[in-house]
Amino acid sequence: MNYKNITIAGSGVLGYQIAFQSAFHGFHVTVYDITDENLERAKAKFDIMSEAFKIDLQATQQQIDKTRQNLTYTSNLAEAVKNADLLIEAVPENPTIKIDFYKKLAKVAPEKTVFATNSSTLLPSQFAEATGRPSKFIALHFANTIWIHNTAEIMGHPKTDPNVFEDVVAFAKAIGMLALPLHKEQPGYILNSLLVPLLSAATSLLVSEVADPETIDKTWMKATGAPLGPFGILDVVGITTAYNIDKIAAEKTKDALKIKTVKYLKDNYIDKNKLGVSTGEGFYTYPNPAYKEADFLK
Ligand code: NAD
Repeated sequence: MNYKNITIAGSGVLGYQIAFQSAFHGFHVTVYDITDENLERAKAKFDIMSEAFKIDLQATQQQIDKTRQNLTYTSNLAEAVKNADLLIEAVPENPTIKIDFYKKLAKVAPEKTVFATNSSTLLPSQFAEATGRPSKFIALHFANTIWIHNTAEIMGHPKTDPNVFEDVVAFAKAIGMLALPLHKEQPGYILNSLLVPLLSAATSLLVSEVADPETIDKTWMKATGAPLGPFGILDVVGITTAYNIDKIAAEKTKDALKIKTVKYLKDNYIDKNKLGVSTGEGFYTYPNPAYKEADFLK
């Protein structure tokens, strides 16, 4: 892998984190977004990210200064990719926006540039043709707060060149990620293929009145040694996300329990603004949730 110049398209929640992380690890990073106003908003996050890196990773001021020098910003797509070895796409999770973006990108990117999508729920094969370079297209999926939850799931589609795959694995490691290669396309990658059924099973037990959230979490935590149970995790992820996933599943399957779960979450949590850690209350109250108390598992 001889990548030096990285372009990040989309400077929102994840895009800016990927840009900062890559710049911190010595890559020359160009941040691209559709308007200068959006880029100003992204630039304003530099200080917040710097503080987080100092606290969580003991980053030095010298490292932060170098990170700043490694970051440039532009709202001109051709300018943004003119030297890119790798472009990481973190534009909104909307197929129409992504396809439109790849079609524009294909017209201006140099031949050498590898494209990687950070999409959480869409498969790379959906966009491969729009990129105009299917063999140089892959998914590279990060998790929110990437400097702490430093997983990088790497997933090709049937036409991804194996050498590109290896290069992207090497790049992920070079920016401090735990590289997690998938051998084939899988909706939800590894993490969400495991997590979504777990969280869904937990809410089903609750809505079926089998047990209360604390008992369900205690069971999971004690039996597996996990630091959080499914309801603790739901509060961190945000109950809105679980609600949206269940709503799609309920509409698709018409399953009675799923329909009941959607109504339960809406009536008891969404409509009461109990959305989890972000609003101070969900299944637990914050900042001191019961599962952190010393005697929770006694
Ligand atoms: P976001 O809405 O915070 O940011 C999207 C950014 O893209 C915005 O700054 C927007 O101005 C910009 N944008 C819109 N259209 C664009 C275009 N045509 N070209 C360039 N930029 C454009 O979204 P996000 O949460 O950062 O998610 C981005 C991607 O990352 C999605 O595919 C999502 O699935 C994935 N992702 C998100 C998370 C998460 O926790 N938020 C985690 C993993 C992966």
